Amino acid sequence: MKRTLPSITLWQMIIGISLFYTLWYNFTFFRSLTAVYPFKENIGFVLSTGIVIWALTAFVLLLLTPRILLKPVLITVTVFSSLGAYFMDTYHVVLDESMLRNALQTNLSESLDLVTPKLFIYIILLGLLPAIVIYRTPVSTMSFRRSLIRRFQIMSILLLVIIAALFAYSKHYTSFFREHRPLRYNTNPLYWIYSSGFYLYKSYFDQEIPFRAIGTDAVIPDDGKPPRLVIMVVGEAARADHFSLNGYQRETNPTLAHDDIINFPQMYSCGTSTAYSVPCMFSVYTRDTYSYKKAISTENVIDVLKHTGKVALLWRDNNSDSKGVALRIPHEDYRTPKQNTICVEGECRDIGMLVGLDDFIAKHQGKDILIVLHQMGNHGPAYYKRYTKDFEKYTPVCKSSQLEECKREEIVNAYDNALRYTDNFLAKTIDLLKHYDDRYRTAMLYMSDHGESLGEKGIYLHGLPYFMAPDAQKHIGALFWFGKGFRDDPRIKALATKHTHRFSHDNLFHTLLGIFDVQTKVYDNKLDMLQ
Ligand SMILES: [Zn+2]
Repeated sequence: MKRTLPSITLWQMIIGISLFYTLWYNFTFFRSLTAVYPFKENIGFVLSTGIVIWALTAFVLLLLTPRILLKPVLITVTVFSSLGAYFMDTYHVVLDESMLRNALQTNLSESLDLVTPKLFIYIILLGLLPAIVIYRTPVSTMSFRRSLIRRFQIMSILLLVIIAALFAYSKHYTSFFREHRPLRYNTNPLYWIYSSGFYLYKSYFDQEIPFRAIGTDAVIPDDGKPPRLVIMVVGEAARADHFSLNGYQRETNPTLAHDDIINFPQMYSCGTSTAYSVPCMFSVYTRDTYSYKKAISTENVIDVLKHTGKVALLWRDNNSDSKGVALRIPHEDYRTPKQNTICVEGECRDIGMLVGLDDFIAKHQGKDILIVLHQMGNHGPAYYKRYTKDFEKYTPVCKSSQLEECKREEIVNAYDNALRYTDNFLAKTIDLLKHYDDRYRTAMLYMSDHGESLGEKGIYLHGLPYFMAPDAQKHIGALFWFGKGFRDDPRIKALATKHTHRFSHDNLFHTLLGIFDVQTKVYDNKLDMLQ
């Protein structure tokens, strides 16, 4: 016979579960809070934040949960929050709107890297077990009217508790809200519930922006020179300060160092995640004016090149997808052996994207060509999977996705080995272009989408809100290579002399137009790196 738990009311259940959330899902919050407000000197304040989180969570749940959906809602929130707690405690990520978008757009094979034993412990102890308790606990019923009144009374009491706590420590809370804004991003589940609401609002209820074509006037004047063959490589999570080209003490660019490249030591990304940065770098918007929604409802630089009618375009992807950038040109998925012929040691390699490009080039003879290759690059946390054995120069390496279990040195070793793999991939791309040097004006442009944290101050991976993200997540690897046909161009010579200037993803749109000499109203020569 099943033993039944004592029956409780709806509000008792919500208040009880909110206390559980406050105590078990907010380690990261309390740890960051007490780093700013040391516990010993601020006992009252720290306790009051616990009370505010508890009361506010209960208030929000009472506001949003209809009686009939009580258990489904609480079970969902519990399971998601246990996941959220795992990612926050392990990687110090923030579950904001752009992180949610990134998570929803991530494919399964990428996510599998994140599956660790610790994840199961979190899901079982903080997700499934409490979910079972919620499921099994009987909830007493009341008349609709009575339960509504009751709900209103309890919510009023919670509100008073929150106000009282804020007043009692008003000085602390003023500095908490003004100077330590990021702290509240660590509250769980409050912040992710807020972010999901924001995400839903922006995705579905926000004013629809009509799709806008741009640069329809674009033309490429005939200059009597050979056509252009440009390969643009979109890198993944390559931070600038780990490039030997930028002074890093390890040889992470051993091959490129011998090529005649122009390195950009001061290049900054638009965002700190793939889903944010990739649409941004190809968009006409600058970081200040960009939003994801605006970018996907406006044509990008690839579309403008298409409008000229003179450029053959191709996007190959070994990362995830083009994040909406290549919707109107041929797009090829290189993440599976179906397309990618170089899948070794369990992973399809970036280098596989070079296979068969000769055919594409041959098919579009006489035309300008732009090929975009979106790399797997240094995708974390499993850096050790991102290169083949022959690139493992620095050992020992971290062979776990649970980065905090590894020594920092092992994480950095694996990360640096993966950069060496990219070095080789870029060099091979340049080699391919060299074959066409006498028939084309060839160029390779490389730019990472964002950087990566490798455990500095306990922060891993990427995706922190831009204003609080460390430089490691924003300062990115970037370099260009130009073949013979471009090298006499005075603009390229000038670029080599100013390569140490500060540039950013804002420049890519106009630089690509510059390289193809596109004339259009949307071109801004002030943002063209070649000007
Ligand atoms: Zn990325």
